[in-house]
Amino acid sequence: MVDARGTGARVALCRGLGVRRYRGAMRGLTLDGVETITFRADLREPVIEADTDAIVQVARAGLCGSDLHPYFGREPVRFGVIPGHEVVGVVVALGSAVGGFVVGQRVIVPFTTSCGSCGACVSGLSARCERAELFGYGDPVDTSKPALQGGQAEMVRVPLADGTLVGVPDDLSDEAALLLADNFPTGWHAVQQADAGPDRPVAIIGLGSVGLSSVAAALMLGAGPVLAVDPVADRRERAGRIGARVADPAEAESVAGEMTATGFPSVVDATGALPGQALAFRLLQPGGTLSIIAVPTFDRFAFTPVDTYDKNATIVAGRAPVRSVLAHLDFDTIALPTDVIVTHPSVPIAEGPDMYRRFAAREAGMVKVLFSFTEL
Ligand SMILES: [Zn+2]
Ligand SMILES: [Zn+2]
Repeated sequence: MVDARGTGARVALCRGLGVRRYRGAMRGLTLDGVETITFRADLREPVIEADTDAIVQVARAGLCGSDLHPYFGREPVRFGVIPGHEVVGVVVALGSAVGGFVVGQRVIVPFTTSCGSCGACVSGLSARCERAELFGYGDPVDTSKPALQGGQAEMVRVPLADGTLVGVPDDLSDEAALLLADNFPTGWHAVQQADAGPDRPVAIIGLGSVGLSSVAAALMLGAGPVLAVDPVADRRERAGRIGARVADPAEAESVAGEMTATGFPSVVDATGALPGQALAFRLLQPGGTLSIIAVPTFDRFAFTPVDTYDKNATIVAGRAPVRSVLAHLDFDTIALPTDVIVTHPSVPIAEGPDMYRRFAAREAGMVKVLFSFTEL
């Protein structure tokens, strides 16, 4: 299901970014061990390896909560890989079989590759494409296949470019476009999976970039009222600015009781932690739907089979099919709360190791960090 968006060929260079000449070496980050991020200026620049590849010069690369799982050793990864799976940039080279894009075109790189034609892609589940690869991980056990390098570097190779890339309208800022590479469509998918709709109360637990995007998406879909829960005051304040009623986890159930007598029909767990998931389940009304969007790094649910039976609960989970979601979003009408979510819009890539450290420590005022690559 390759949509027409990729073929519009509205060509524009990213703001302030000239097309870079091939040099052989580039700047970027590598994940070299647990809690070990290294800035390097001698990374090998990617080249076209297959006729379906594109090379994208990165204008902004996101630092995502999901990056912290391999960083802390909670998720397997091949050390030495360039991390990062959220990119907006400019196409600088194309394989001969790529027909939907032109050199110079601004694009989003969603976090998995997708072919656009297998059963999963056609059904709208691009994240489970039978040829999907995640940017910036690499199999730590089977090293016979090269890791697909991530986007926290000046250039990234994008396999299956026609089915993976998404063109960006000229009037969308790099910061907003970057949110569309993962966090916003992920939040959108999360609330849709939770069956959120007009006038349905929704609770969102966890207010990182995906949780805040979920709040925004729920309100865009006409759902409400929205309860947004996080232990960090700064993140609650941001959710309040988007339009949610907010609560600390300790007070969430009493606030929920003021909003709905029976619990919430739609709840999103965006915490990736057992206590948050347990709270999400407690807020669910009988017959409701709990959408687990955070990447789990534990081997059980925070609730039991009996709990789900006793609530007639529907539980849905899984990686958001960003490429498929973007095919249906109208970029001209969605109102992204970019300024509320993006707290660090342009951090030089050389500061990457420090940014990882501070983001991992949940420093106040730090929600979404975007790396930039302007020549110094
Ligand atoms: Zn991400
Ligand atoms: Zn596919």
